[in-house]
Amino acid sequence: MKLCFLGTGTAGSKLMPEGTVPEGKRRCCSMWIDGDVVVDLSMQSFDFATKLGLDTSRVTDVFLSHTHRDHYCKATLLAYAAAAKTKINFWCHKDSLTRIGLTEEEAAVLNVHPIEVGDEWETAGMRVKALRANHLTPGGGQPLHYIFERNGQKLFYGCDGAWFCADTWEYMRANGDLDAMILEATVGDDAGNFRIGTHNTVPMLRLMLTAIRENGVLKEGGTLIADHIGGAIHSDKMVPLLDELGMIEAYDGLTLEI
Ligand SMILES: [Zn+2]
Ligand SMILES: [Zn+2]
Repeated sequence: MKLCFLGTGTAGSKLMPEGTVPEGKRRCCSMWIDGDVVVDLSMQSFDFATKLGLDTSRVTDVFLSHTHRDHYCKATLLAYAAAAKTKINFWCHKDSLTRIGLTEEEAAVLNVHPIEVGDEWETAGMRVKALRANHLTPGGGQPLHYIFERNGQKLFYGCDGAWFCADTWEYMRANGDLDAMILEATVGDDAGNFRIGTHNTVPMLRLMLTAIRENGVLKEGGTLIADHIGGAIHSDKMVPLLDELGMIEAYDGLTLEI
């Protein structure tokens, strides 16, 4: 799988006017897989993909983790739909549709697929599993993590969500064998931060990664990627911490083969 990160920041980035991003700052969350799958739809995702010269007409499937505005922007979804050669499959939690707010006309240009925690299905030559994320969007549906399996490779995508919900962890422990994991590192090394109920700190990641490795959730030599990071790209504080954890720091424009 070839990953391309189009936005690796947190909710702070959405406050920038018209999605502009000052040098060294991160865009909101969005990622491509193999040039035809988009995960999360930040306000800057389509424009940045275009700027990077990516072929947006190839996109067939778009997955939404949750409806927070740093992950979902209707204009971005509709821009991908307009550029695509085929009618895009849009996958989102079943209770998020009100917040997603598509008119009948807008929904008609997409194949909208409401999904539930635990669903498993095939699309775009991938096997996909939706798992519960420990995150909160009151009135906006259950936030989801995903496992994407393509060409024998398995990728976990976990933005946003703190720690793991019990059912998600038990699924991963039983079915793990992941080639790569994308985990959020929103709060960095701020162990006392109030966000610990919905986001990860580095001390939490340190504990989680020990259990992930010792329980075979991640294959030996598998790739760990930190994403959804508050603050600047390549910050002097975060880089050594992520190095110590054996995690690659995602940044806007990073492409990675797993
Ligand atoms: Zn977020
Ligand atoms: Zn969120």
